[in-house]
Amino acid sequence: MAVIGIMSAMHEELAAVLAAMPDEQRVKVAGRDYWVGHWQGHSVVAVLSRIGKVAAATTATVLLDRFEVDALVFTGVAGGLGSGVRVGDVVVADGFVQHDMDASPLFPRHEVPLYGRARFEADVDLGGQLAQASGQVLANAALHLGAGTLAEFQLHVPRVHQGLILSGDRFISTSAESQALRQSLPKALAVEMEGAAVAQVCHDYGVPFAAVRTISDRADDAAHTDFQRFIREVASRYSLAILSQWLICRQPV
Ligand code: SAH
Repeated sequence: MAVIGIMSAMHEELAAVLAAMPDEQRVKVAGRDYWVGHWQGHSVVAVLSRIGKVAAATTATVLLDRFEVDALVFTGVAGGLGSGVRVGDVVVADGFVQHDMDASPLFPRHEVPLYGRARFEADVDLGGQLAQASGQVLANAALHLGAGTLAEFQLHVPRVHQGLILSGDRFISTSAESQALRQSLPKALAVEMEGAAVAQVCHDYGVPFAAVRTISDRADDAAHTDFQRFIREVASRYSLAILSQWLICRQPV
């Protein structure tokens, strides 16, 4: 049976996934706890990604090399960059760029040296499946979060977007920085700290990868003040519901 790797960026998200797995066994590698078991009839290995590109790349490499996962899915939160990408929306990646990669003038800005490319693609099928599952969950957002939570975080009609996600080793929390990112990479919908690194590792191993990010802030001066509460009460519930919905619809192979 195909093995699915699930990387969660947040403790709260991983805890929710583990609570849904009936039989998880812990395997410790490189200081990380990998949880091997089943969810919705699929073989799954779940792990906390850790924050930042290098930490996430190490976590992903072990999933691919030691646990030999056949597909890898990432969930977490991100700052919204694209116009109309609001707090409480979900962005499913169709590709990733490291916004802090700059080996110019030796290589073009953002190009990863020796790969001949700046952009790493998400798997089209996997991304499509996750976008569909996200749409189904957000259409019933009040069911997953409760109407009180929706009102409290002022999440009106949450939307699913699909497009480019930027990653870099910076938490973007000023309007000047997010404006600069919008200018240099105008197609970007969201910014976070891990996805492009994991996409590069999956590219190296030839394993399909996709990522779903709940927008927690607008990457500006008003970046979400109650980050932890948002993760606990909104993002981790969305992640759990989206992954669960996706696995229910996916045929075990
Ligand atoms: N307070 C948190 C730290 C979060 S770091 C804690 O104690 O765990 C930021 C995480 O959220 C990273 O996983 C990153 O991918 C994502 N993220 C959310 N908003 C972001 C932004 N505006 N810029 C960069 N990363 C962001």
